[in-house]
Amino acid sequence: MSDAESTLITGIGELVSNDGEPSGGQPDSSQPGSFAAMTDAALVIAGGKVAWTGPASRAPAADTVVDVAGRAVLPGFADSHAHLVFAGERSAEFAARMAGRPYRAGGILGTVEATRAAPDSALRANLRRLAAEMLRQGTTTFECKSGYGLTVPDEARGVALAAEVTPEVTYLGAHVVPPEFAADPAGYVDLVCGPMLDACAPAARWVDVFCEDGAFGADEAAAVLAAGQAAGLYARVHANQLGPGPGVRVAAEAGAASADHCTFLTDDDVDTLASTPVVATLLPGVEFSCRQPFPQARRLLDAGAVVALATDCNPGSSFTSSMPFCIALAVREMGMTTEEAVWAATAGGARALRRTDIGHLGVGARADLILLDAPSHTYLAYRPGVPQIAAVWQAGNLVAGAVP
Ligand SMILES: [Zn+2]
Repeated sequence: MSDAESTLITGIGELVSNDGEPSGGQPDSSQPGSFAAMTDAALVIAGGKVAWTGPASRAPAADTVVDVAGRAVLPGFADSHAHLVFAGERSAEFAARMAGRPYRAGGILGTVEATRAAPDSALRANLRRLAAEMLRQGTTTFECKSGYGLTVPDEARGVALAAEVTPEVTYLGAHVVPPEFAADPAGYVDLVCGPMLDACAPAARWVDVFCEDGAFGADEAAAVLAAGQAAGLYARVHANQLGPGPGVRVAAEAGAASADHCTFLTDDDVDTLASTPVVATLLPGVEFSCRQPFPQARRLLDAGAVVALATDCNPGSSFTSSMPFCIALAVREMGMTTEEAVWAATAGGARALRRTDIGHLGVGARADLILLDAPSHTYLAYRPGVPQIAAVWQAGNLVAGAVP
């Protein structure tokens, strides 16, 4: 479709637009609105953007007409947390964990070793395979972190490869302290805040840090974020995954876009998330794959925090790229309504990435949308594990699947 042409998608059984009145969190007219859906709807795409939405009976003429016969149309998913630049796999570690057997292998450091040893071509092929897998499942925007290189050249390679597939590139030199710095963690933080940052910042938009016991403490995390921000990057934090800790506070003090995981929160942490613009990004694929208690989404939502859902796709703790799977987990295991979960996977992810052009289908939004082979968004949780993404449009172009 050229920019001059318009496409009318009509016969939409349910159009999820997320352009309702803002509610909860920090109302802001520059952000996607609350969950909103319309039945018997139509949508016009022109110039790669949403040009019109409304009742199908009042749809304007267009160059091309697509009738989706009562199926649901949603904004494309925005997966705001993924680690896709890696080599190797850790299925044996997963199997041992599920069997309750001890497993002695490298964990993250095993992936670091394999990633360092891999040629660019292997990393690129794996990254492109995963990006295509995400697109087929309806993810039209995803974030991608470095963090398995942990040397200056390997981290620079990680962000450069990520930048080939997404604009949402995150520098995660502060993932773990690599073995060669085991005796000098402060020296590693200096490297992350100095030469490694200089090498990575030009290709990145975000800086991230794993703020956790056994990774980086509050002061180290704050230093990493401040250095990244001084280099022009925006902050996000791995926070409160393995136990209570300072991650959420560090994220709020740094003005981070998002605190990710939020599995172990104190009342103070919940208050912080409810009273600041920091998005609480929940990653239930991790708790599923590690057989851990799920984050308390209900507690956050009831307090008024903004909640996003993301996959944390990585070869260790959550090797799923499926946002529909995360939605199903959020509804079944975390007490979220189907509306809340779909909003969190679309508009919530956009908020966590500070994007206003995606995550909703209001007029002027980028025409990133998915067609479900089902009549409503509820089916994403109602029929878990079933491939229901029939077609995917990105900036108005049909990029995966087909209209049945
Ligand atoms: Zn992560």
